[in-house]
Amino acid sequence: MACAEFSFHVPSLSELAEVMQKGLKDNFAEVQVSVVDCPDLTKEPFTFPVKGICGKTRIAEVGGVPYLMPLVNKKKVYDLNKIAKEIKLPGAFMLGAGAGPFQTLGFNSEFMPIVQTESEHNPPVNGSYFSYINPADGGYLLEKYNKKYHDFGCALMANLFASEGQPGKVIEVKAKRRTGQLNFVTSMRQTLGNHYGNKPVGMGGTFIVQKGKVKAHIMPTEFSSCPLNSDEEINKWLNFYEMKAPLVCLPVFVSKDPGFDLRLEHTHFFSHHGEGGHYHYDTTPDTVEYLGYFSPAEFLYRIDQPKETHGFGRD
Ligand SMILES: [Zn+2]
Repeated sequence: MACAEFSFHVPSLSELAEVMQKGLKDNFAEVQVSVVDCPDLTKEPFTFPVKGICGKTRIAEVGGVPYLMPLVNKKKVYDLNKIAKEIKLPGAFMLGAGAGPFQTLGFNSEFMPIVQTESEHNPPVNGSYFSYINPADGGYLLEKYNKKYHDFGCALMANLFASEGQPGKVIEVKAKRRTGQLNFVTSMRQTLGNHYGNKPVGMGGTFIVQKGKVKAHIMPTEFSSCPLNSDEEINKWLNFYEMKAPLVCLPVFVSKDPGFDLRLEHTHFFSHHGEGGHYHYDTTPDTVEYLGYFSPAEFLYRIDQPKETHGFGRD
């Protein structure tokens, strides 16, 4: 599979904290950004299979929206253990956002990858979730993937933040009461873009929506049989919901595309109360509270980049 490698600009954590503190103030009433020890992510509410998001950090973008639309390309199936080898980090801990493995599930879904991949020393652990539309009543369901399935598949597209899963220093971001138009991730991404300009910075990690509600989408279980050719057509096809805190989000974002047709941000989330999906923005600016932990990525890997592309379906 085609795989391109790129080195991100990697500022120091203290510089990043300073830049983000200043930038996020344009969009949130209360902002506190600092460098801290990563909390133990094996604990609630994260319940990840590893303690941290540090060590040999990478962002991998696999496939892309052009494999889902205008019409689905069912050849585009992937394996997270193989992806870990492609990004030269077998055993990597990966989190992020993508499409669920229809090749296993038999239907389309939103995927929240949380995987410690296989290494010489350890068997792989799949802590992923997926959410999908319940055909019986049109509602949605969130399930832990390894309850019924034992593979490490994903499909069509994935934005992944990979690391050794080690404890270590990370950037903590607390933001309360949204005063601007940007969602939490876009606010961080644009802050980095404004400051670092042509030097792309990539970040990933996890944040909790502690209070408030968010607008989310879940794709239908069936791929569209008629071609989807615009954001308007896609929005008619998708199912939108409002989901409530606490939500555990898995953001991956890049300040500037160095020329690999990247999706600049992609965030999926799960919860312990049955809600999960693709994060758009909070719908409760006056009461929303975010708490996040982020690490900058050293490398970008672009895997199986679509040759024919378009601009829609990236929201
Ligand atoms: Zn998504």
